[in-house]
Amino acid sequence: MSDNPSIRYHVSMTKIQQLQKILIEFSYYDEMYGIAFKPRAYKLAAESVSVLNGEIENTWRKGGIKALKKFPGIGQSIAEKIDEFFRTGKIKEYQTMKKKFPVDIWSLSRIERLGPKHIHDLYEYLNVRNLSDLKKALKTHKVQTIPRWGAKSEKRLARNLGLTERASDRRLLSEILPYAHNILTALSQVKGVKHCTIAGSIRRRRDTIGDIDLLATSSDPDRVMDAFTSLPLVETIHERGKTRSSIRLRIGIDVDLRVVHDEVYGAALQYFTGNARHNILLREYALSKGYTLNEYGLFQHKKNSLIVCKTEEEIYTRLGMDTPPPEIRIGDDEIDAAREHRIPRLIPYGSVKGDMHVHTEWTDGTVSIKKMITAAKKVGLSYVAITDHTKSLAYIHGLNEKRILEQIAEIKKLNKEIKKFTIFSGTECDILKDGTLDISDKVLAKLDWVGISIHSYFTLSRKEQTKRIVAALSNPNVDCLFHPTCRLIGKRKAIDYDIDEIITTAKKHRVALEIDAYPNRSDLRDIHVRAAVQAGVKLTIDTDAHTPEDFRFISLGEAIARRGWATKTNILNTKKSAELRAYLQKKRSTKH
Ligand SMILES: [Zn+2]
Ligand SMILES: [Zn+2]
Repeated sequence: MSDNPSIRYHVSMTKIQQLQKILIEFSYYDEMYGIAFKPRAYKLAAESVSVLNGEIENTWRKGGIKALKKFPGIGQSIAEKIDEFFRTGKIKEYQTMKKKFPVDIWSLSRIERLGPKHIHDLYEYLNVRNLSDLKKALKTHKVQTIPRWGAKSEKRLARNLGLTERASDRRLLSEILPYAHNILTALSQVKGVKHCTIAGSIRRRRDTIGDIDLLATSSDPDRVMDAFTSLPLVETIHERGKTRSSIRLRIGIDVDLRVVHDEVYGAALQYFTGNARHNILLREYALSKGYTLNEYGLFQHKKNSLIVCKTEEEIYTRLGMDTPPPEIRIGDDEIDAAREHRIPRLIPYGSVKGDMHVHTEWTDGTVSIKKMITAAKKVGLSYVAITDHTKSLAYIHGLNEKRILEQIAEIKKLNKEIKKFTIFSGTECDILKDGTLDISDKVLAKLDWVGISIHSYFTLSRKEQTKRIVAALSNPNVDCLFHPTCRLIGKRKAIDYDIDEIITTAKKHRVALEIDAYPNRSDLRDIHVRAAVQAGVKLTIDTDAHTPEDFRFISLGEAIARRGWATKTNILNTKKSAELRAYLQKKRSTKH
């Protein structure tokens, strides 16, 4: 709409957000003019205001200036300003400051590494007052003419501005999910709320997310909307209504909340979960059965009446079908399958028992084998395969044969020490350009688990790439193809090869394909998972952990498996460790 984001960011802020903005702008202003002790206080006060939210006004109402002073950062002078703001809706000193320095500090301060001194310079030398002025100055390369700035700083600023603006693009599920859960928790605690749930693409667990959709039922919708629009994370309120409100979070993502009546909760949840194509197909099917389905409910034509559906299941049941799990509602063949009762029981979350792709400080992981195991135990896993890189990746000290043998010995020792946990000695062995592996067969045969992957020559022709991987999969020591397509979301496209041939070859040699749950990999993709499942190829769900925190991504991998219609039996590492070991040994001994 407007190409001036500063306008967009400022519409309809709540009172608390205005106060927060004023305090932040004061802190920047004071720092520009070298008032040494104050900026920190203003920042602290702004934080207090944001955290306390509505509480601050209550406190002020009850105890005035004196009561305000008990909060961090709020001394006499700031307390007086807050008091003035609550009494009159403005702060005189702020208005005077804005006259002297008419700059949208708030919006500019959102740009990474753009501090008070920079904002000051931009205004003093180039009269930059807002984001659109800044864009013009960058376009005409005037920014580099500011004393002590130079071309490098200009370039960096342009890049960081771009990042801020692109923040409204799609984001990784892993990044957004915690925010969605936080908001959900906050709203669930609001008085009168009965249901509160995440809908939309997050509920379908897509790899990337455009915005957060929430749905609630409540006996007091106004109260929910108040709580929603005054969440501490809010940057802008786009819309505040009785049934729908929409906000933008400081991290640059929009959140929509709809509050509906209990009787239509099922229909609304179904509708707002989507996707659009699934909904169109379902509506068409409902019509053919004499119903109208929309976000307000399911209506029977004959009686011209609403059928109360408090849950989604009631809708699908009424239409004579099973309820497809949200992850597979993409408007493919899931409605037919649901009608014919042939959707399998998808792998339940929490089914993965071990992680078969784990790095340590032996190569590019951050900690020791022991520390990774402690972390794996903490998230409920009962085994891992240690799969450090091999010698082709010299820049991260990939292991050669000798080092691999040393690691096998170390793991043997550790397995004796630790209780109720199994470590498989494994590798992430590099596939060379010609499809051979960079570790000798003799050493590979000594490992419990051989994962192979491509880290070079991503751009070979389709024919060459296919040939290369087929050759690698044919090595009898190989157990699994790691991150099979090598894509990195937002960074690198998938390598080009004939996926059907890879699946056929994997089946033939009983090699598993990995679902690498590391968020920007999410590799295999759902459609390939489904093809592998249909072909009877086994899969693993791994995190490719390089730090102890990475094990938390397991459930993201389970989501991809679910999107690919995988059941528990399709996934190797849902087996117990002893079963998995037996499976691998049998596979090795019967290989030609
Ligand atoms: Zn890798
Ligand atoms: Zn790896």
